[in-house]
Amino acid sequence: MEPTQFKPVDCLHFINGQFVSSLDGKTFDNINPSTEQVLGTVAEGGAAEIHLAVKAAKKALKGPWMKMGANERVAILRKVGDLILARQDQLAALESMDTGKPIWLSGSIDIPRSAYNFHFFSDYIRTITTETTQMDNIALNYAVRSPLGVIGLINPWNLPLLLLTWKLAPALAAGNTVVMKPAELTPMTATVLAEICRDAGIPDGVVNLVHGFGPNSAGAALVEHPDVNAISFTGETSTGKVIMASASKTLKRLSYELGGKNPNIIFADSNMDEVIETTLKSSFINQGEVCLCGSRIYVERSAYQGFLDKFVAKSRELVVGDPFEPTTKVGALISEEHYERVMGYIELAVEEGGTILLGGKRPEGLDKGYYLEPTIITGLNRDCRVVQEEIFGPVVTVIPFDSEDDLLDQVNDTQYGLSATVWTNDLRRAHRVAGQIEAGIVWVNTWFLRDLRTPFGGVKQSGIGREGGLHSFEFYSELKNICIKL
Ligand code: ADP
Repeated sequence: MEPTQFKPVDCLHFINGQFVSSLDGKTFDNINPSTEQVLGTVAEGGAAEIHLAVKAAKKALKGPWMKMGANERVAILRKVGDLILARQDQLAALESMDTGKPIWLSGSIDIPRSAYNFHFFSDYIRTITTETTQMDNIALNYAVRSPLGVIGLINPWNLPLLLLTWKLAPALAAGNTVVMKPAELTPMTATVLAEICRDAGIPDGVVNLVHGFGPNSAGAALVEHPDVNAISFTGETSTGKVIMASASKTLKRLSYELGGKNPNIIFADSNMDEVIETTLKSSFINQGEVCLCGSRIYVERSAYQGFLDKFVAKSRELVVGDPFEPTTKVGALISEEHYERVMGYIELAVEEGGTILLGGKRPEGLDKGYYLEPTIITGLNRDCRVVQEEIFGPVVTVIPFDSEDDLLDQVNDTQYGLSATVWTNDLRRAHRVAGQIEAGIVWVNTWFLRDLRTPFGGVKQSGIGREGGLHSFEFYSELKNICIKL
């Protein structure tokens, strides 16, 4: 179908308030994963462009953004949110062209929540206070909060605008200046966001954007730059390790949201219809390309077969295809390389002794685009790589369990610890199990329900630090204690 009235945009860098090409004019093609066609070109930045962007951001730390009162900053950030909503249809279309995700998903979740990130953090500015500590009648201590400085925001391709705004809004609310490096596979909404920031009245140099690749390119240059004070990174755990090694040379602050292999735990006493409805989403929404997806499903043995029968039947009904068709539930995976990687895990599942109950292949009739049917695998045990490693596609494993101890043993036997879901109607068990799961976020009888004031982040190799509400301000600002002798 004719996707939309909105045309793809060519992507330039945004440095010191101007859209600019790379100094050497280099570009790369932006590919639409649902058609495999070229959407347009993207300026390919490197160390030189990063240097210019960081220089502008550093200079802006002494400019009007710093001198601005809270009222004005609140109003500007609110306006960014308003302008995102005003351009919601365009942004949703661009996001779906770039990522291959269904347009209803971009339109109903990604883009409105991106606007909300700005509305939320602009409101939050007014709630920030700091502590005072009196030492008897000897001294009075008070803490003052100041921005960290220039922040590098390095972003993944799965929720491009949503995750970029999740970093940008608090970084700006805390008074910093930034250089954004969006994922090379999804550059379009970040480019429009730069325009929106300019139109909302954010002064030149406060928000900068450099497109390009990660290793030995724009991403690496941003991490290495001595004038960048902190990096907020969302992406693969392996990339996080590389960034940490490089950031150690300049001792940068790091906030990390990394990979996950999240358990979705189903006790026999739970409400199965509710479980199935939510599990379809937690397994296959956004093609399974969400770090919070519940890719390891554990079902109490007495409910195992009943769950599987229903889950397979409902998953079979999910329409895979053109992201711009309103009936589509599962779009295309992000790239050929990622598609091959996910398919590699499906082959591995068979080698490891698993049974592909559903999917595992390209849907019939879809010859172009990186489409994969929702895939359900059984018969694997905890040591299998398919159960241990993050696949980041519409692929889940289902494993029965016999007791709570057996379950927790299996659930925690992973390097990851981002999120988990527990389904049960037994209140005591819900608390008991939630308390013992090694994860930064545990949902009980729900999934993906977020209040932006709550701490968000992972344990083990799923992340470092927490963001959300005050936790974001804690990362994006420094506290200085001033001690006055009385
Ligand atoms: P994926 O492989 O799924 O794209 P990555 O973690 O590699 O996930 O990428 C997330 C973001 O990190 C992207 O913007 C990418 O360009 C960037 N990136 C990748 N490698 C590096 C690196 N060595 N230094 C800085 N940024 C990087």
